[in-house]
Amino acid sequence: MSGDWRYEQLHDALRLGLRAENILYESKTEHQHLVLFENAKFGKVLTLDTVLQTTTRDEFIYHEMLTHVPILAHGAVRRVLIIGGGDGGMLEEVLKHRTVETVTMVEIDAAVIEFSKKYLPEICKDAFEDPRTDLVIGDGYAFVGQDGPKYDLIIVDSTDPIGPGEVLFTRSFYERCHAALNEGGILVTQNGVPFMQASELQQTVNFLRPIFADVSCYLASVPTYVGGPMAFGWATDNKALRSVSADKLDVRFRSANLDTQYYTPAVHKAAFALPGYVSKLLA
Ligand code: SAM
Repeated sequence: MSGDWRYEQLHDALRLGLRAENILYESKTEHQHLVLFENAKFGKVLTLDTVLQTTTRDEFIYHEMLTHVPILAHGAVRRVLIIGGGDGGMLEEVLKHRTVETVTMVEIDAAVIEFSKKYLPEICKDAFEDPRTDLVIGDGYAFVGQDGPKYDLIIVDSTDPIGPGEVLFTRSFYERCHAALNEGGILVTQNGVPFMQASELQQTVNFLRPIFADVSCYLASVPTYVGGPMAFGWATDNKALRSVSADKLDVRFRSANLDTQYYTPAVHKAAFALPGYVSKLLA
C-alpha cells in the first residue's frame, strides 16, 4: 500500500495506522507534537503526541455525547467549564444551548486553539468568537484549585493520561472539580475505551466514588477510538439525574431545538446501559 502512514501507538498490543494522503500541518508546540493530515475515510485527522484526538468525520459522536447528555439530564445548566478541548468542538456543541449563559474553557496549549481556528473551522466554527465564551490558557488542574465562581457542569475533554493530561485523572483533580460545582452539578470525563484501557476507567471511578453521591459511566462508539465503545465518566451528587425519563429528555431536546447527528433521547437512555465487562469494572 502506498502513501505516508501515520501510526497511533496508544496500547501495548495494538498499533493503529491511518494513511495520510496529505499532511496539512505538523509542528512541535510548547507542550505537544501536533499533526493534522487528511485521510480518505475520516477526513481531517488531528493527533497530539501521535495519539488521535479528533477527526472531521466522527467528531460529532464524541462532542454530542459529552455535552447534550449532561446538559439535558440536568435541565438547567447555565454555567459550563470545559477543561482541555483545544479543537473547539466541545465549546461549539455546548454553545448550541441558548440557555447556557457562559462557557469557560481552560486549555493548556494555546497553539492547539490557534491552529484549530485556522485549520479545523469545520469543528470549532465561530465558537471562540461567541460572547459567552471565556477562554483561559492554562492548566486545568491549577484552574479548578482556585477560588472562583462555580459551575453547573464540568466537561473534561482531555488527552489520555500521558503528558499534560495526566493530572486530569488524579483524585485531587476530581476533588477540586467537586468543590467547583454548584449543588447538583455534573462532572463528565473522557475515559478512554474500557476494552483497551480498563484500568483508566476503573481508577477514575474509584477516585470519584468517595467524592460524589452518584458515580457511573455511559458509552458511545466512536470509530476512530478502536476497541469498542468509549466510556464517559459521570459524577454528581444528584442521584435522580442519571434516570431522568425519556419523555422528559424528549421535551428538553425539542425545546433546545438541536440538530444532532448522533444524540437522541433514546440513545441518551441507552448509553447508561452497561455491558457485563464494563459493569464489572465499576463494581
Ligand atoms: N477528543 C480528544 C481525545 O480524547 O482524543 C481530546 C481532544 S482535546 C484536543 C484535548 C486537549 O486537552 C488538548 O488540546 C490538550 O492540549 C488539552 N490538555 C491536556 N492536558 C491539559 C491540562 N492539564 N489542562 C488543560 N488542557 C489540557
